[in-house]
Amino acid sequence: VTQRLFTPGPVEIPDRILSALAKRPPHHRSAVFRELYAGLTPRLNTLFATSGRVVVLAASGTGGMDAAVTAFVGEGTGTLTAEAGKFGDRWEKILRSYGHNPHVVRAEWGRAVPPGEIGKALDEHGADVVFLTHSETSTATLHALRALAAEAQRRGVLVVADVVTSLGVHEFRQDDFGVDVAVAGSQKGLMLPPGLALVGLGERALARLESDGVRGPAFYLDLKKASDSATTGDTPYTPAVSLVMALDEAVRMIEELGIEEVWRRHDAVASAVRAGGVAAGLRLFSESPANSVTAFLPPDGVQAKQVVAHLADKHGFVLAGGQDRLKGKIARVGHMGLAYGADDARRVSEALEEAVIDLGGGGERGRAAQAVAASLAEKPCES
Ligand SMILES: *Cc1c(COP(=O)(O)O)cnc(C)c1O
Repeated sequence: VTQRLFTPGPVEIPDRILSALAKRPPHHRSAVFRELYAGLTPRLNTLFATSGRVVVLAASGTGGMDAAVTAFVGEGTGTLTAEAGKFGDRWEKILRSYGHNPHVVRAEWGRAVPPGEIGKALDEHGADVVFLTHSETSTATLHALRALAAEAQRRGVLVVADVVTSLGVHEFRQDDFGVDVAVAGSQKGLMLPPGLALVGLGERALARLESDGVRGPAFYLDLKKASDSATTGDTPYTPAVSLVMALDEAVRMIEELGIEEVWRRHDAVASAVRAGGVAAGLRLFSESPANSVTAFLPPDGVQAKQVVAHLADKHGFVLAGGQDRLKGKIARVGHMGLAYGADDARRVSEALEEAVIDLGGGGERGRAAQAVAASLAEKPCES
């Protein structure tokens, strides 16, 4: 069987982007590349909806998170993180690796951190910078990012947000949401292979970079250097030229459809997958489901691992299991990017239904397809 990725990153790459990746890369100090990168920068501003600057780093998403920490946190900087899963926890881990001791506001995995708790914690403990996660991929949970950021902005606290699985998936407008620093990666909603981190720097973040305030140690992942170079279409070191060319094509695809239509499409596909999976006898793990990925709990007597293996063996559909404390407990279906449509929602839901029946979890053939059709009738989406 040919494989199809339903993983929450990397995701299936549309043909147009694959073609861009196959092009002969120009030298990165050539006028051709400079023009490409300089031309991309304002379009990335539009994508992030920031009047600041978006820098592109040759790194995975975590490299962007690391860069954000060292650029805005130094000795004596008070930090607070919101943790409701593996990626919220990553902020704490990065901070600790640089010797910082953040105050952590936790929510049970599968729930979102309530904005009020951030406000309360900021009042009690204070902080100069908060670290948030928009779409928590490990639990398939969406956070109310705008409301979380507002709690920090109201108190003059700098806001850094992980938007790795929400950029190009969920409504996100950096400046309007009150996010000073937004970190994204290439292999999720931007539908590229892994290898790029994008960091959106709002006006306040840019001003902070210009000031001689405290910051941490950084050489390769120095956001100030990357941001200064970006103004002339340059990068401090050799960029991932082919990935930047592909990013140009990915942004064009989003522009052609319109960002709001891209968000709407993800909502339609995710809603159909949720409806299909529930009709197949699975339960939603998250109380606040994201449109990037759907996490399912199997019915009694069936193991999540068996479901994942069944879809891989029978259909070549690659799902993800749980991470860390959710290992073996959930099955995650990713549906980020424009390679996913109505057909995928139907096929993966039918495969889930077949798996549950074959594995002894009960149910009846046809319910999942019916539920998907009903969902798509309400929220339509092309294949
Ligand atoms: C994938 C992901 C990241 C970055 O992970 P990398 O493997 O370093 O690209 C960060 N945050 C979230 C929410 C993610 O899903």
